[in-house]
Amino acid sequence: MLNGLQNKVAIITGAGQGIGAAISRRLAQEGAKVVLVDINADCLKDIAHELDTETLTISADISKKNHVLNMVEQTKNTFGRVDILVNNAGIIRDGFLSRLSEDDWDKVMDVNLKGPFLCCQAVFDTMKAQNSGKIVNIVSRSWLGNIGQANYSASKGGLVSLTRTLALELARFQINVNAVAPGLIETPMTKNMPEEALARLLRMQPTGKMGSVDDIAAAVAFLSSGDGAFINGQILHVDGGKSCGLLSL
Ligand code: NAP
Repeated sequence: MLNGLQNKVAIITGAGQGIGAAISRRLAQEGAKVVLVDINADCLKDIAHELDTETLTISADISKKNHVLNMVEQTKNTFGRVDILVNNAGIIRDGFLSRLSEDDWDKVMDVNLKGPFLCCQAVFDTMKAQNSGKIVNIVSRSWLGNIGQANYSASKGGLVSLTRTLALELARFQINVNAVAPGLIETPMTKNMPEEALARLLRMQPTGKMGSVDDIAAAVAFLSSGDGAFINGQILHVDGGKSCGLLSL
């Protein structure tokens, strides 16, 4: 068991499937109370049922400020505090530059960058008053650059900068802000990728295989725990070594 997660209140966005669901399960196993947030609330109830902890499910679009404020208010009304925020919800709308539509640019920026900004801002007063808090942003190894993902890579690069800036701004309130950068992970998001694109990504993978959602959940749990207390403003790549250099394209 990790230190200091017992009875902590954790909000996880995009908790309905994939990495967000795994993070919710892991934090619940560590004794946290979990607030499961997703734009599609249908899948949240099933996940909440399997967890052996107090839960709250909230339907919210994190790119909308009124939804985000309501999410934090509901959490405080139910549990009285917010200890952990995991900004996990994210989308892809891939395409090469010449074919990338303005709408695909805006949608990805709204969910992947503006959403976490709104969520961080919404929990700040509460964490400041508590003089404690942990924020973990799920970025991606693609923040280093990835062909066909100008919008996605830029959004995650922006989220890396947001992470580092807020780490500096919020440290004096004992709020840690870190990021986890997954490599290729087996989730519904990657299952929907074209076969050829997935094969190309696997060729660039030093381990030759995808990581699991539990690999990411373990890193998030560690950074959310007391064991990660002096870690701030860091980007933890959980990618089987891919960020060390590109292999063949
Ligand atoms: P996923 O399977 O697509 O799950 C994301 C969840 O977020 C879905 O339930 C989705 O709902 C929800 N969501 C989408 N837009 C939302 C919004 N505006 N407000 C609230 N919830 C919203 O994705 P994943 O693969 O688990 O990825 C989770 C995070 O890890 C993302 O930030 C992603 O960029 C990052 N990541 C993933 C990988 C990978 O290999 N999978 C690699 C690097 C980084 P709908 O399904 O209804 O849209």
